[in-house]
Amino acid sequence: MQKVKIVLKSGKDQSVRRYHPWIFSGAIKKIYGKPSEGDVVNVYDNKDEFLATGHYQPGSIAVRILSFSEIEPDINFFRERIKNAINYRRAIGLVNNSQTNVYRLVHAEGDDLPGLIIDYYNGVAVMQMHSVGMYRMRNEFAAILKDICGERLKAVYDKSEGTIPYMSGVSGKNEFLYGNSGPVIVSENGFRFKIDWTIGQKTGFFIDQRDNRKLLLEYSEGKRVLNMFGYTGAFSVYAMKNAVLVHTVDSSASATELANENIRLNYGEEHMHEAFQVDAFDFLNDIKGKYDLIILDPPAFAKHNKVLSNALQGYKRLNMKAIEQIRPGGIIFTFSCSQVVTKENFRKSVFAAAANTGRKVRILHQMSQPPDHPVNIYHPESEYLKGLVIYVE
Ligand code: SAH
Repeated sequence: MQKVKIVLKSGKDQSVRRYHPWIFSGAIKKIYGKPSEGDVVNVYDNKDEFLATGHYQPGSIAVRILSFSEIEPDINFFRERIKNAINYRRAIGLVNNSQTNVYRLVHAEGDDLPGLIIDYYNGVAVMQMHSVGMYRMRNEFAAILKDICGERLKAVYDKSEGTIPYMSGVSGKNEFLYGNSGPVIVSENGFRFKIDWTIGQKTGFFIDQRDNRKLLLEYSEGKRVLNMFGYTGAFSVYAMKNAVLVHTVDSSASATELANENIRLNYGEEHMHEAFQVDAFDFLNDIKGKYDLIILDPPAFAKHNKVLSNALQGYKRLNMKAIEQIRPGGIIFTFSCSQVVTKENFRKSVFAAAANTGRKVRILHQMSQPPDHPVNIYHPESEYLKGLVIYVE
């Protein structure tokens, strides 16, 4: 089929020539034809030189680039890309790992598949499409996964209902595309978690914190630990191994329930853990000196640039409370998963928070996302998770 041609304004080809995978609507000089959401389009510079093939989407990001050479993004094209993503996970030791059977199989731009997320939960693949172009291929993706993974794969679940933009003419539905399965128990670094992808956030679990949870394990020995914004209680489960007391806080009742369930799954009826359903900001007002280690892993405070300064204020306020309240010699694991908040901005917020309290603070570690959430070097935006481990004197 003849593809719609999109021509960029003079000079706007520069970022494409540096392999950035997004074309913003403001860079476009002319669209020849009327592409629908999700159509495959070809992009040219203003001298008519071919630049890229990608998925069209009305909105700020107009094209998500699939290839910088002229290709047909058919099932074979995607099979190669997905195979490549799986081979990469195998190379970094995540496939057939005896300790860990939960990992991200496809990380959008990080795997040259913009708009596509696939997480693997011990035999169940959960997909989330963020573009109509990718959504249209969902059944092909399920078939590809089945082909490549074979018997190991019990089911493929599509959880795109809330993630596809615009949806004109596209009615997303959360459903199994292959097989069927109830919640599964996964293992991460030997710890066990119940995953129910049909409820909750993302595809069911914050896989991206795996390495940071492991780091926490090293610091929790003998500590009284407070896990703020606990969700599945994953940080708490790790901390429990070595800590003397662990408290989980989340404003959602289903989250505190899930955290308790995961604690029981690993430790049975254990009394050194307690979960509190309460607002994090309220809880932090009244804990002076009670904890030696605090984890702050809030939801993204900024989803887009317009609210960036509010978000930075939010991080500052939150961190200030924790720095103020933690016992002398305490440690804080603090995170931001907002894509629009840069590493530098986040660090500045924590700096401002520390300065406001007047306490002496050292940075022990700078954290990021694990290698199954790879950062495409040409797309710095794929580095979204950042964190600091700080020591408060
Ligand atoms: N740390 C978690 C992920 C956190 S997701 C993990 O490792 O899996 C963010 C969580 O913050 C959600 O469970 C949400 O219910 C909770 N939350 C959002 N706003 C909150 C608030 N003001 N106070 C307490 N919890 C909040």
